[in-house]
Amino acid sequence: MRLNLRRSSRAENRFEKWIAQRHQERVLAGDTTVVGPCPDEAFLEDLARRSRRIALSDPRVDHAATCSICMNRLLALRCEHRSRQQKLVFATAIAVCVIIAAIVTITRYEIGNHSLASNMAPIAETVNLWDTGAFRGQQPGPLQSVSLPAALVRVRIILPRFSSPGRYVVAVTHDPSGNGVVAEATANATSSGQQEIIVADLDLRSARAGRYYLATTHEQDQAAYYYPLQIK
Ligand SMILES: [Zn+2]
Repeated sequence: MRLNLRRSSRAENRFEKWIAQRHQERVLAGDTTVVGPCPDEAFLEDLARRSRRIALSDPRVDHAATCSICMNRLLALRCEHRSRQQKLVFATAIAVCVIIAAIVTITRYEIGNHSLASNMAPIAETVNLWDTGAFRGQQPGPLQSVSLPAALVRVRIILPRFSSPGRYVVAVTHDPSGNGVVAEATANATSSGQQEIIVADLDLRSARAGRYYLATTHEQDQAAYYYPLQIK
């Protein structure tokens, strides 16, 4: 039903357009009787823009609809008005695109900054070696599994009982002889009660998940201890 209505109104539109065209041709050929003088340009511009200010009962409308000079001018003004509108639509579309692009760029920049900031902030981890039996050299101590994420880590290491105070080198290595250093940092141990604690930043972002060793080496006595480490 709706389809039929649409179809019939389309046919009506075509018919009206055809009549208007025939009328226009007659006017332009000077086949119509013209009543009254030509209106001014402002009126014709309003008429071309289909301004609501113009009442169809206005005799100038009748004149313009029958005068070949006014009709010519009206057609030219309609063309100008249409191309102005198209330019306006085009400019608006470009402005909208520019605004969207700017929003997208700013949003991406902010997301990028945010993720950069969250990437840069070290992840705090604590490794408690307090109850670890310490073995010197290449023999790793029997300890609970230590695991760290593959990220920038601020690791707080509670050193094993009886550890010496002083400066330590903390490293993550591939093997228990200190080869293949993945990350390294130096830090002073601070005493907290009986415990010695080192806080060191280790950049493990480039490390693949797997088995490594966490090494602590006292700078003065060069005693290195290796603990099995899992990077997740
Ligand atoms: Zn006229």
